[in-house]
Amino acid sequence: MAYLEKLNAEQRRAVEHGVLEKGSAPGGPLLVIAGAGSGKTNTLAHRVAHLIVNGADPRRILLMTFSRRAAAEMRRRVERICAEALGANGGILINGVAWAGTFHGVGARLLREYAAEIGLNPDFTIHDREDAADLMNLVRHELGFSKAESRFPTKGTCLGIYSRAVNEELPLDDVLEGCFPWCAGWSAQLRELFATYVEAKQAQNVLDYDDLLLYWAQTLGEPALAEDIGGRFDHVLVDEYQDTNRLQSSILLAMKPDGRGLTVVGDDAQSIYSFRAATVRSILEFPKVFSPPADIVTLDRNYRSTQPILAAANSVIELASERFTKNLWTERPSGEKPRLITVPDEADQARYVVERVLEDREIGARLKQQAVLFRASHHSGPLELELTRRNIPFVKFGGLKFLDSAHVKDMLALLRFAQNPLDRVAGFRLMQLLPGVGPASAQRVLDLMAEQPDPLFALSDIPAPPRSGDDWPGFVETLQYVRAGKAGWPTEIASARRWYEPHLERIHEDAVTRLADLLQLEQMAAGYPSRERFLTELTLDPPDATSDQAGAPLLDEDYLILSTIHSAKGQEWKSVFVLNAVDGCIPSDLAAGTTAEIEEERRLLYVAMTRAVDTLHLITPQRFFTHGQHPQGDRHVYASRTRFIPKALLHHFECVTWPRTAAASGERQSARGTRVDVSAKMRAMWR
Ligand code: ATP
Ligand code: MG
Repeated sequence: MAYLEKLNAEQRRAVEHGVLEKGSAPGGPLLVIAGAGSGKTNTLAHRVAHLIVNGADPRRILLMTFSRRAAAEMRRRVERICAEALGANGGILINGVAWAGTFHGVGARLLREYAAEIGLNPDFTIHDREDAADLMNLVRHELGFSKAESRFPTKGTCLGIYSRAVNEELPLDDVLEGCFPWCAGWSAQLRELFATYVEAKQAQNVLDYDDLLLYWAQTLGEPALAEDIGGRFDHVLVDEYQDTNRLQSSILLAMKPDGRGLTVVGDDAQSIYSFRAATVRSILEFPKVFSPPADIVTLDRNYRSTQPILAAANSVIELASERFTKNLWTERPSGEKPRLITVPDEADQARYVVERVLEDREIGARLKQQAVLFRASHHSGPLELELTRRNIPFVKFGGLKFLDSAHVKDMLALLRFAQNPLDRVAGFRLMQLLPGVGPASAQRVLDLMAEQPDPLFALSDIPAPPRSGDDWPGFVETLQYVRAGKAGWPTEIASARRWYEPHLERIHEDAVTRLADLLQLEQMAAGYPSRERFLTELTLDPPDATSDQAGAPLLDEDYLILSTIHSAKGQEWKSVFVLNAVDGCIPSDLAAGTTAEIEEERRLLYVAMTRAVDTLHLITPQRFFTHGQHPQGDRHVYASRTRFIPKALLHHFECVTWPRTAAASGERQSARGTRVDVSAKMRAMWR
């Protein structure tokens, strides 16, 4: 096959692993472990295509990636390769690769399908982290654990503890001892809190993110269901395996106990999600879990970056306390070293980026081929201002999401409450939009509703909260109308919005812009087949913030990419800028604790640097602003270059100070030295 010839010998070995002849049984487990840019994702796409070309049924392939965006990209690549190999038939075949997505997305879909078997109502709604924290808070109040004087852990900490215990599959006390020692005294209360929280979720028919994995794992605990679910897929393939947690690996094992048909791909040097309980151990231990053990393919040729960029990135990761035995090399020579730029402060940092970006655009580079990466979402604030001022469109990944704004959350709460009237967090939020309705009366109504077989229908008979006035009947009517689905999807959103508009105007001064967001939400909704799918997908993979909230850039429009390093995983751009390469940002002040945390920050810098194809700029402002991170509050601090680039590594970089002072550059002097007869020029103009 022609597509195989584009691969190197090791990549080809991974692609062909276990594919013996058309229609043969899936081969044994395979691990591809290799450094950044060595073609892991590309190899995985080729492997899927190769399986299909050799007769594997695309409906029986499960492909798991780090984001929905990555899954869509992977499907496109597979489709292209198949079409190339099979002609028009390839396109038809590939329509069947329906099971591609994130662990959470795939979990949600399977759970709806198996709801009846596991005692779950298939109408369940999904709580994002914020909703989950709100529910945790409600439960805390109910149990009386939230009195200010008691110093009980905050709702966020409670959720953090709960989530870690679930994802690491560890007993509560171990989690407290290992990660939250200052909460250890609350063990008994936390246990009660979590038990009540779980009951509350079940009573309300909601699942949080962790539940999507936990219920899935529990379902697989039933041998018959495990066989059924595992048996639906001949091949299960996972990209970015270094960032899966214990629960996710046990799900894979339960689906494929002997590892046949299982392929995982990753890079231990890029493990950056331990704060979400991902463990680099899962990739290192993978081969030994099976007997016979998994085959291992390593790739050491980097196809992405130029030699100087790769040398600099390698030098950073080589200083890691755990040695990663990788020796990446590339055949892409370049005379251009990565640049390490010192600027006075963050405003200059922003100006530097904008000038370079515009310069590149002058010579025909597209904005989309350039990305600006940063450790924390708020680091891009001054740059966003400068970009807006200079009219340069951008899209920001991993930052504040469109869905985080109050008005969008209100609208979604309405749809969610109509979908699942037992969802108290949604109901609680909605009812309090009505003037005169406070937490106590909202609780009362929700309690009464919960006793009814058809809670939304019963709402008409439940006495209105005392001070809700004329607004109550309209509220009830709208909910029932949306629930009944008479208007049809997505038209019902418009009815919901019309009900919400007067409240929006009352609550927010900038109602006009917010209304534009809601219209955008309606447009987005049109892309989904049903209310349930819309809510699920939006909660699991929210759209990113754009420079123009009123309208996302059109597909063919050009825009600059701004992204947190975490969200830049797996991607590449011709030119990459890394902001705030200073101690306090990378490594982050927040992580300056254990060696393990510092090591993870080093890997983050490595991930950032290895995104660059041709040009890499690391910028170090000498002063930067700490947003509430500093022990003494918001303030400017003097920064020093990140400790991950010590003096001994500086020879890998071209060190530049910007803006250059006039005296240093000599520009002014050379201008003075030039002689031009301006008077003669002036005369010449009129001849
Ligand atoms: P990361 O660790 O960042 O996820 P990766 O190992 O998944 O990287 P890919 O994104 O698959 O790497 O590939 C990096 C780049 O190298 C891509 O532009 C890809 O097209 C290119 N590439 C991969 N393999 C080959 C090959 N055999 N020949 C030419 N180009 C290749
Ligand atoms: Mg990749």
